Amino acid sequence: MNRTSRLFSALLSVFLASNCAAEKPNILFFFVDDMGWQDTSVPFHTGPTKLNRQYRTPNMERLAKKGLLFTNAYACSICSPSRVSLMTGQNAARHGVTCWTLRKDRSPERPNTNFSSSQWPLNGLQPTDASVERSFSARTLPEILRSAGYRTIHAGKAHFGAQNTPGSDPGNLGFDINIAGCHIGGPGSYHGDKNFSAKWRNGDAIWDVPGLEKYHGRKINLTEAITRESIAAVEQSVADKNPFYLYLAHYAVHAPFEPDRRFLPNYQKEKWKAHQKTYASMLESMDHSLGQLLQTLERLKIAENTIVVFMSDNGSPGNNPQNIPLRGSKISGYEGGTRVPLIVHWPDITPADKRTNSPIIIEDIFPTFLEMAGIANEHEIDGKSFTDILKAPETDRSRRPLFWHYPNLYHLPPYSSVRLGDHKLIHWHLTGKLELFDLKNDLGETTNLAGARPAKVNELATLLGNHLRETKAFRLSNRKTGTPVPHPDEL
Ligand code: CA
Repeated sequence: MNRTSRLFSALLSVFLASNCAAEKPNILFFFVDDMGWQDTSVPFHTGPTKLNRQYRTPNMERLAKKGLLFTNAYACSICSPSRVSLMTGQNAARHGVTCWTLRKDRSPERPNTNFSSSQWPLNGLQPTDASVERSFSARTLPEILRSAGYRTIHAGKAHFGAQNTPGSDPGNLGFDINIAGCHIGGPGSYHGDKNFSAKWRNGDAIWDVPGLEKYHGRKINLTEAITRESIAAVEQSVADKNPFYLYLAHYAVHAPFEPDRRFLPNYQKEKWKAHQKTYASMLESMDHSLGQLLQTLERLKIAENTIVVFMSDNGSPGNNPQNIPLRGSKISGYEGGTRVPLIVHWPDITPADKRTNSPIIIEDIFPTFLEMAGIANEHEIDGKSFTDILKAPETDRSRRPLFWHYPNLYHLPPYSSVRLGDHKLIHWHLTGKLELFDLKNDLGETTNLAGARPAKVNELATLLGNHLRETKAFRLSNRKTGTPVPHPDEL
C-alpha cells in the first residue's frame, strides 16, 4: 500500500467509525415487574377482555399504535431468572438462577418432606472476575453495549445478585449509572414520605430502595422518582452526544401493593375490591412513566433514533385478578406465569400498529439488542435474535422449541416445560405427571391431551430431556433415594 492509499484507508476508517457511532440507535428497554398479559387496556388476546376494559394504560396504547405487538412473548415465571436470562442471553436451565435471590448464601425455598433442594446458584448473577460461591457469571448485555460506545443506564429494580455480593450492584455488571437498583426484588414502600422503606410498618431494612434520599419525606411515588432520574440521565446522555441503553426496570407493579395517590381517584367509583383499585392505580402510574419517557424522546428530538421496547418479567401474581383467558399466575408453569406483554417500536423498521403471533422468549432480547446496535454476537447463548420478526411479523418460528425450568420449592409446584408450535408439555417434578396442551385450541390449558396424543408427548419429552441434560440443569432430589428427579423422557 503506498502512502496515499494508506492515508485514504485511514481517513475512510475514521469516517466509518464516526458515522457508525452517529447512527447507533438509542435503546429504551421499559421493563415492568410482575405485570400480567391482561393487566393493560391494550388487548394482547384476540379481542378486548374484561381486564383490558377495566385498566387504563393509554401510553401503551400509543406505543402499540406505533409499533409491533407480540401476542406470544414469554419470560420466566419469576423475577431473578428472567433478569439473568435478559442480561446473559441464556436459558434459565443453563444459568441456573431459577428462583429469586436476596440474602447471601440463603435460599428462599421452603422445606419439603419428600424432596431436597439442589445446589442452584442462589447468590445470582456475578461479575466474571468475582469469586462468589453458588453464583453464575457471564458477559452481560450492558457490558457489551458499553464496550461498543453506549452509555448504559440502570434505573429501578436490579435483583441480579444477592445482598453483600458484587452482583448486587448494577455498576459491577456493566452499567455506567445506577439509579435505585440493588439486591432487592421489591421496594420497602412506593411512598417517598415513607422513605421508600418498610421500616414504618416494622418491615426489614433489607427492602430499602437505595440512592433516592433526595426524595425522602416527600409526597412522591417511587415510579415518579425513578422516572425523573431516568429522564435526567437521558438528557445528560443527549447533551454529551452519547448513544444510550436505558434499562428502565420499574419496581412497579410488584408488591407491596400501595396505591399511587395520583391515580387512585380514577377508580374510586368502581365496585371492585380495594386491592384491584390499588393495583389499577399502580398500572396507570407505570403507564404514565412510559408516557413521560416517550414525551422526553420527542422533546429531545431523538424519537426517530430511539428503539422502545416494553416488556414484563413474568405473569401477574395470584393476589391480582386472574389473567383470563390464561390459567395460573406468577411462578406457575401455566401460561399465566410466563406469557407477558411485549411491544417493540424500532423506527423505520417495525411496521406500525401490527401484531405478530410468533413466539419469542426473554433470552432472545440479548442478541436482538446487539443486532439492533450493529454489534456482532460472539457469545454462546440460547437466545435467538428476532429482528426477522420485527421486519416481517408473519415470520414463522413454530419449529423452534422454547424451554422453562423451575426446579425450586416455593409456594407453587416445581416444573419444566417446552413449547413447540401449538403444543406445550409440562413436567411436574413432585408428582412426575406430564400434561400436554394444545395452545391454539385451548389457550386456558383446561384439557390435558397427554393420554390422547402419546407421540406428541414422546417428541416433546425427548426435546425437553435433551435440553435439560445438555444444559446440566439443576434438579431436586428425592430424600429417600437420594436420586435426582428424572428427566421427562426417563419417567
Ligand atoms: Ca417479577
